[in-house]
Amino acid sequence: MATNVYIDGTWVPASGGVIPTCDPATEELLEEVGFADASDVDAAVAAARRAFEDRQWRSMPPVQRARLLFDLADLIEAHAEELAVLETRDQGQPVGISRAVSVTGAAEHFRYYAGWVTKIEGATSPVSFPDTLHYTRREPVGVCALITPWNFPLMILAWKLAPALATGNTVIIKPAEQTPLTSIRLVQLAERVGFPPGVINLVTGDGSTGAALAEHPDVDKVSFTGSTEVGRSIVRASAGNLKRVTLELGGKAPSIIAADADIDAAVAGNIAGSVLNSGQVCAAYTRFYVDRKREDEFVAKLADGVSGMRLGPGLDESTQLGPLVSAEHLRSVEQLVATGPAEGAELVTGGRRAADKGWFFQPTVFAGVKDGMTIATKEIFGPVLSVLSYDDEDELAAVIARANQTEYGLAATVWTKDLTVANRVAEGIRAGAIFINMPSIPDMAAPWGGFKASGWGREMGSLAIDAYTEVKAVWCHYGS
Ligand code: NAD
Ligand code: MG
Repeated sequence: MATNVYIDGTWVPASGGVIPTCDPATEELLEEVGFADASDVDAAVAAARRAFEDRQWRSMPPVQRARLLFDLADLIEAHAEELAVLETRDQGQPVGISRAVSVTGAAEHFRYYAGWVTKIEGATSPVSFPDTLHYTRREPVGVCALITPWNFPLMILAWKLAPALATGNTVIIKPAEQTPLTSIRLVQLAERVGFPPGVINLVTGDGSTGAALAEHPDVDKVSFTGSTEVGRSIVRASAGNLKRVTLELGGKAPSIIAADADIDAAVAGNIAGSVLNSGQVCAAYTRFYVDRKREDEFVAKLADGVSGMRLGPGLDESTQLGPLVSAEHLRSVEQLVATGPAEGAELVTGGRRAADKGWFFQPTVFAGVKDGMTIATKEIFGPVLSVLSYDDEDELAAVIARANQTEYGLAATVWTKDLTVANRVAEGIRAGAIFINMPSIPDMAAPWGGFKASGWGREMGSLAIDAYTEVKAVWCHYGS
């Protein structure tokens, strides 16, 4: 079954053969899944187009469309443990995270957007023509390609699928090749809920499968989460038919720790916000700008905190840090970490692969990091924390400018008891989300997305409704 792709309500063998997915804790093959080629993509897009044009889905009474999404949320919860274990086996994250973040997050997302279905409103506009009624309608964009990454496969799919369906679009899902299994399972659950054939389609495969979708002339929108580099190629590919594009890309989030901060809270919050899922989090805090008066204390407590964490297979309930997702990603983290000492940073703890088997990497802290160093500028996407420092709170503007010296702008945090400092940072940092005295957490009710090269557009909240709809202006002259 897993070697099949889901097109027009049927599981059919993929034309491109199969592609393996591994368990990152054991390096063993978990399963082979279908490898969709351009002909499968064509078939999936044609099915989604037909399902969009026959209007059954988008014209379904909102209460009924909402019912299907509520049912899917319930079904995810009914299969929560199975999904959590599957996510951990395929992706590596500790099973407690799979349960509390990935599966719960996915179910709540479907429930949240099920609630929206009956609340998608237009507006009347006071146009200056006599006897003219003007109103707007929010209509679905059309056929949407949902291309997802490997760090939180199920939850990020829910971020896209729930609002896309709530607004009456039809979709083709393309999960990351490293972690396709929970997306396949979610589509199997959706099949039981009873969405009309062609509304949800799934093509597993690699970047070539995603590229075929991004280029496809009959796809109206691409919603992509992944690397900035691939995001750029999606923008280029979308130019043909001027697709709508939502991009959630990389990050290099700064954390500013002021002299008056509660250091224990800052350390705990920054550890939570930086090594969750072994740092494979786009909003992970990786650059710590600490007031020099508190630097030694912060570095010591940070290093102590991360080095005491239990690394192990995600299925072990006591594990706090799981493996990295793939051998390739482990190599990339190792190479970036090696630039730290080479460029003059002080390695305080970690810095190496943590086991012979499984793609584990030690949580790593560097001190004495300078702004231009590779570890301070490149997204590492691993459990690697760089501590920089600053001299005096009077130079807050200078610290903010340094924190802004990055192509990214996804998230930032500040730790202080001073409301002026907190709000100056909140105003000054060019990023999509600012957290004051707390780690970064997504919530379906709050907009999520990036400034600068961290992306285009926003997901979650009401903004996701905007992102999956077009506004139509209707003019009606009723005078004689
Ligand atoms: P990636 O860009 O390599 O792959 C993401 C997806 O795109 C996969 O499904 C992949 O198969 C597909 N893909 C690859 N090449 C493609 C192409 N040319 N055209 C279309 N699709 C293509 O990213 P990744 O390595 O899986 O994920 C890690 C990256 O994702 C990090 O940079 C991280 O910051 C980012 N990320 C961002 C957010 C956010 O909300 N901003 C969330 C999670 C991850
Ligand atoms: Mg895998």
